[in-house]
Amino acid sequence: MLRDKVVIVTGASSGIGYATALALSKAGAKVAAGARRIDKLESLKNEVQENDGEILIKNLDVTKKEECDSFINLVTKTWNRIDILINNAGIMPLSFFKNLKISEWEEMIDVNLKGVLFCTAAVVPHMITKKTGHIVNISSVAGRIIFPAGSVYCATKHAITAFSEGLRQELSQRYNIKVTCIEPGVVSTELPNTITDKSLESFVESVKKMESLKAEDIANAIIYSIESPHYLNINEILLRPLSQEK
Ligand code: NDP
Repeated sequence: MLRDKVVIVTGASSGIGYATALALSKAGAKVAAGARRIDKLESLKNEVQENDGEILIKNLDVTKKEECDSFINLVTKTWNRIDILINNAGIMPLSFFKNLKISEWEEMIDVNLKGVLFCTAAVVPHMITKKTGHIVNISSVAGRIIFPAGSVYCATKHAITAFSEGLRQELSQRYNIKVTCIEPGVVSTELPNTITDKSLESFVESVKKMESLKAEDIANAIIYSIESPHYLNINEILLRPLSQEK
């Protein structure tokens, strides 16, 4: 069902985005992959092409609306269509609020929330015109629960869960556009590398020791949602490692 579908993946240079881009291309999709680290995207491109897949890569900072617009324009120019957007780019510099890591809060809001809005804004007009499309937002368990040192990160992910539901109510029935919100628990990726709050060092170590999910597990969940029959709108998928309590 994915053969020749055009799928856009943000934050495709590592972790969940990289694994998803690869899995989608193996399933026959044409993949447009964006992120800031172009060298990592080049590695993805090589891997996709070794498997005879079709991929377009582009340097993308989702906090800049004009870069989101030009990325989407390049995709439509190249393949003349957009079927699916996967809003995956995200950062998680957890910190205790009292430590006032204000620039980190701002960056989290810019990437995790505004980046999703900018990329969605760039694809929705195409999808409405074509009366078809699918938007997959990568939220988190942190979009469902809240924990200390996660107040701002959880706020951004709660916002994505709320945005996904609002978008579904507005676009699904009226314009035949599916919306899915994926809510992973702990996945083994580079995500904790953005944490600078020293008081979280032991927390980060304990998370690293957990038997966590693999990026491929999330890619599979995304593909499951995309491959659903035309009448089935998978709105949410919440998935945790067996060893994760909250
Ligand atoms: P990674 O750190 O491996 O990947 C994050 C991706 O986001 C990278 O490709 C990075 O690319 C990209 N990114 C960051 N900032 C920007 C930006 N300004 N513009 C464009 N791309 C950006 O972590 P994950 O794969 O784990 O994270 C992917 C998503 O999954 C995130 O939204 C995260 O919140 C969510 N998630 C992760 C969980 C986990 O435990 N790992 C659990 C629940 C949700 P680059 O730096 O090259 O720009």
